Amino acid sequence: MAVTADVVVAGGGVIGTAIAWRAAAAGLEVVLVDPERGDATSLVAAGMLAPASEALFGEGALLRINLLALARFGSFAAELEEVTGRRAGLRREGTLAVAYDPGDYAALMRLTAFRRSAGLDAEELDSRACRKLESFLTPDVHGGVLFAGDWSVDNRRYAAALREAAAVAGVRMVRDRVTEVLIRDGRARGVAVADGETIGSAQVVVAAGCWSGEVGGLPAGLRDVVRPVKGQLLRLRHPEGMPPVLAHTMRATVRGADVYLVPRADGEVVVGATSEERGPDRTVTAGAVHDLLHDAMSVLPVTSELILAETCAGLRPGTPDNGPVVGGFGAGSGHGGLLLATGHYRNGILMSPVTADAIVACLTGQPPAAEWAPFTPERFVSGADAR
Ligand SMILES: Cc1cc2nc3c(=O)[nH]c(=O)nc-3n(C[C@H](O)[C@H](O)[C@H](O)COP(=O)(O)OP(=O)(O)OC[C@H]3O[C@@H](n4cnc5c(N)ncnc54)[C@H](O)[C@@H]3O)c2cc1C
Repeated sequence: MAVTADVVVAGGGVIGTAIAWRAAAAGLEVVLVDPERGDATSLVAAGMLAPASEALFGEGALLRINLLALARFGSFAAELEEVTGRRAGLRREGTLAVAYDPGDYAALMRLTAFRRSAGLDAEELDSRACRKLESFLTPDVHGGVLFAGDWSVDNRRYAAALREAAAVAGVRMVRDRVTEVLIRDGRARGVAVADGETIGSAQVVVAAGCWSGEVGGLPAGLRDVVRPVKGQLLRLRHPEGMPPVLAHTMRATVRGADVYLVPRADGEVVVGATSEERGPDRTVTAGAVHDLLHDAMSVLPVTSELILAETCAGLRPGTPDNGPVVGGFGAGSGHGGLLLATGHYRNGILMSPVTADAIVACLTGQPPAAEWAPFTPERFVSGADAR
């Protein structure tokens, strides 16, 4: 066993890198292992930090963790920017949700009533008031709702800053793939990597996004829990000299289809996204590009003048209950020292700071925040599976 550390983190997306940074900052010796194939979902995402405009019926526990996550994001990003001298591209303008036709509006109002009943701020606006906020919006829009509490972040800048912060804090980066968590006498002892080496550690965190189930050594119930949910997305750019066409994150429902546009300070506008059950497929299809642009242009016609800079697809780590899988296993489970931080599905950028807090709490023998109770790995593991 050539290398040893206190903790090995498998996976260097925003989740694994945030954990590695905070664990090292807490005084632990950390090795972060990632094959760096360039397919991390964290580099595809739109970067919305939007618990209010994303709250859905039946996802109360998820809403509570997302609200905790937003409350933590500001201080986390401030420390990140201070440590690295890099900007994460945080924006606090809020989300304007607009409805294209009366049917879309009725659906938005049903969701808005639910979100209000959950205590979220939501200001109803008629078409004219929407256009006061976003002057390029089509007058055809039926009406909308401002969720002023939502934020966004430039996830690529944020991910780069996390990586630098981890390096500054002394995290050792290993470019490889974890094949297996080594378990002996009911405890994690480290990991085996693809090049045949092993890395010894008393604690192991599996944070490999939608690929987490491929890591050997997990309890049986967890091997198939995380699945890839494909999302296709576009990145547009303003032509030289063109003033910004959008101030808020905009979510639109256009004859039942959802699209969002997320502006960045550097002139990028992210347009997304599809949600497809297609296994590990990451191809970009003509139909998706057409539909996303068509729906975006229906509400913001000026979109047609922006430059189509990039098309991409990523794999959200989805779970059967849409909730993340964060934490370890109880005493006597046969998996002492093994922790999971995966399954963040649609909200992994948002949840990365609070996930790092929860995992570092577990690593240092503290209880994580109470909001995590519904999201432990143990919910997917029966007693017999654990061993
Ligand atoms: C189109 C789209 C839009 C999205 N928009 C948002 C948004 O607006 N807001 C938001 O909060 N979230 C959003 N998400 C979700 C978010 O991107 C994910 O939840 C988040 O990126 C998951 O981060 P992660 O670190 O777990 O996974 P990833 O970023 O996928 O990282 C996993 C890493 O594990 C590595 N890995 C794989 N196998 C192994 C192994 N065996 N050993 C070691 N390393 C391994 C991979 O190389 C990869 O780097 C979006 C996702 C998509 C697809």
